[in-house]
Amino acid sequence: MLEERSAGTVIYRQSPQGKLYLLLNYPSGHWDFVKGNIEKGETFKQTVLREIREETGIEDITFVDGFEDKVEYHYQRDGQVIHKEVIFFLANTKTSKVVLSHEHRDYTWLNFNDALEKLTYKTAQNIFKKIKDL
Ligand code: ATP
Repeated sequence: MLEERSAGTVIYRQSPQGKLYLLLNYPSGHWDFVKGNIEKGETFKQTVLREIREETGIEDITFVDGFEDKVEYHYQRDGQVIHKEVIFFLANTKTSKVVLSHEHRDYTWLNFNDALEKLTYKTAQNIFKKIKDL
């Protein structure tokens, strides 16, 4: 079975209405956090910083210490089953402006409950729920 590894992050910013979380709409239709494949020689956090820059244009990122989690899933590409692992961190930014790349269809900043509802996959929701307790 093919193995794929990505790294991603829950990103939030403070607004007058409280914390808002960034979700992206992927070409296959799902809503998820920023993530991307790990390139050779990168640490997980280097991947995340690069992906945030490429996928959102956001440059100011502060990781929240002590949060790291993982989701696993299988999907099919060209008839091959792929086992994928994604390591997730938590980070905040002061930037609200998002400049999307061609890799995504849309983005949104939502409060916790709306973001939880918008996330397509249970695995992502489970990670997100742990963040609320932090
Ligand atoms: P990236 O380069 O950001 O890691 P990608 O766009 O190449 O992502 P995924 O977002 O992993 O790929 O999507 C690949 C396939 O896996 C899609 O069909 C998607 O619907 C499915 N998928 C994505 N996240 C999950 C998940 N948490 N659980 C189950 N299936 C998922």
